[in-house]
Amino acid sequence: MLPVSRETPEPEVILAAAEVLARGGLVAFPTETVYGLGARGLRADEVEKIFVAKQRPSGHPLILHVDGEAMASALASRWSDRASRLARAFWPGPLTLVVPRAPSVPDVVTGGLATVGLRMPRHPVALALIARVGEPLAAPSANAHMHVSPTMAAHVVQSLGDRVDLVLDAGPCDHGIESTVIDLARDDEAPRVLRAGAASLDAIRAVVPEAVYEPLTVATDVARASPGLASKHYAPRARVVLVDAPHLVDEHPGLRVGAIVWSEEARALLAHRSRTVFTLPPDPEAFARALFATFYEADAAGLDLLLIERVPATPPWWAVTDRLARASS
Ligand code: AMP
Ligand code: MG
Repeated sequence: MLPVSRETPEPEVILAAAEVLARGGLVAFPTETVYGLGARGLRADEVEKIFVAKQRPSGHPLILHVDGEAMASALASRWSDRASRLARAFWPGPLTLVVPRAPSVPDVVTGGLATVGLRMPRHPVALALIARVGEPLAAPSANAHMHVSPTMAAHVVQSLGDRVDLVLDAGPCDHGIESTVIDLARDDEAPRVLRAGAASLDAIRAVVPEAVYEPLTVATDVARASPGLASKHYAPRARVVLVDAPHLVDEHPGLRVGAIVWSEEARALLAHRSRTVFTLPPDPEAFARALFATFYEADAAGLDLLLIERVPATPPWWAVTDRLARASS
């Protein structure tokens, strides 16, 4: 693990990381969403190592991280007006564009699909690393398959141990939740949000008003065009159950029970209980930033059952709602 300055990444640290990648190694690096597990994205044998390290089944597409629209459009067989408008509005930032892929993109990156997911991150360390390598970096979240995405460098080490060659530590991630993924592969169809994330639906519709989002259910999940969207994803080891505040105090004999709460009501109810309680902020962005770290803490505490207070069914909570639905599925 190497510390690196978030604002002004030290050139010698970035160079060291680029050298690990150039030798075909894996580097975990911070982005503004979560920590990514990076390899040079156009070299199939190196990208394969990501799947081995994560123990992720093949067929799950990875996002290629780019340093701008020029690098992105070179990876697409067609770079539409919509793609260009969204890239200009959101990049650098937490929006992944799924577009028809160029022949240079290996199958292992796309999971054999005819499309590729592209994103320009906003984190100075990620951008410095891509620029130094001069090629797109394939980087899924830097956690073992089916584990929680890391929002701190220590989580990466906890989840992947020595299966990663180098971890760049720039402190906690700004968003703490993954990018929004939007499918732009077909010009004759409305753009479809495949994954709720750090870029809001309102902000996306300000650029492409025709964008659609059909929240996942476990049943539709299987049939989705985005194979990486396994429903039992983003879950801590404890069983997760979403409940309204009054049920936070229910007894579960024999189980080590914890709770994640955000409302005043819930905090008052639990005030005099001997139960592990994690209080998160009642604001959706701050809640998202803290959620995965709380899952890691719940694992460390050895909980069997994690009760999570239901969050409001309003648009600002969409990404949190999605992650909680998966964690509890
Ligand atoms: P991760 O980087 O592990 O957070 O996951 C990447 C997400 O982007 C997954 O949900 C993938 O299914 C999605 N994704 C990446 N590339 C594509 C693609 N070509 N088509 C559909 N979804 C994609
Ligand atoms: Mg992931």
